Amino acid sequence: MTPTSLVALVTGGSRGLGKNMALALARKGIDVLLTYNSQQAEAQAVVAEIEQLGRKAAALQLNVGESQNFAGFFAQVQAVLRNTFQTDKLNFLINNAGIGIHAPFASTTEAQFDQLVNIHLKGPFFLTQQALPLLADGGRIINISTGLARFALPGYAAYAAMKGAVEVLTRYQAKELGMRGITVNTVAPGAIETDFGGGAVRDNANINQFLASQTALGRVGRPDDIGGVVAFLCSEEAGWVNAQRLEASGGMFL
Ligand code: NDP
Repeated sequence: MTPTSLVALVTGGSRGLGKNMALALARKGIDVLLTYNSQQAEAQAVVAEIEQLGRKAAALQLNVGESQNFAGFFAQVQAVLRNTFQTDKLNFLINNAGIGIHAPFASTTEAQFDQLVNIHLKGPFFLTQQALPLLADGGRIINISTGLARFALPGYAAYAAMKGAVEVLTRYQAKELGMRGITVNTVAPGAIETDFGGGAVRDNANINQFLASQTALGRVGRPDDIGGVVAFLCSEEAGWVNAQRLEASGGMFL
């Protein structure tokens, strides 16, 4: 099959940062297959928005914490690529989906740890592994980390440890996939106003003001601060950027 355009798979594209990434990619002329976990209507609204931009789009359900379902998911991906995108390859994989759990180290439960490890580490690890046959040579993988992997704020020991592991994984993936011309980079957002963690950064004035005061640019981030960074890493100009951690935080905790 001759691909008509480039296609990105964005996990967690129904809301927040993933939605912003999906739209930013579409504005760069890239077609988008996005996933959602529970919010099908929001995902379909993003699909409609991308189509209004003149790009192809589709949404599939995926829980990234359930790796036992990944084989079935990729069977669906193959069918959608063929039927909706008229191609048999993905060009970009954006591992974005995730949740926040705020818990002090001393009282983090095994259940919380397991949920975070499944969604933020095991999920992206095996999702990417199983995506490899569908990923075009010369493709790009972008893993979403967090500023919290560089600086420490109380309550994020387990969450940030998973993201730190993803940053290490990024370098190993870059090393092992370079022979196929595939680049792998991490984008690490600072605190951004989304639904993440119950929407605390957006809705809790004290948290918002504290984080803004610790940010060189004097405010917390908005989804629009992130989508374009991911789109840049998927652009021709960024082809030589590999195995890097790109923090987009407005300069937090410098
Ligand atoms: P949101 O809560 O706004 O959106 C989360 C997205 O992930 C939704 O699309 C949701 O799907 C999806 N999702 C949640 N759980 C799962 C799951 N188990 N399987 C598959 N999809 C799931 O969060 P953000 O957009 O803010 O966060 C996106 C990424 O950015 C996460 O990896 C997060 O750790 C990271 N991040 C966020 C920061 C912030 O301050 N907001 C800062 C740094 C990093 P659905 O809509 O169907 O529920």
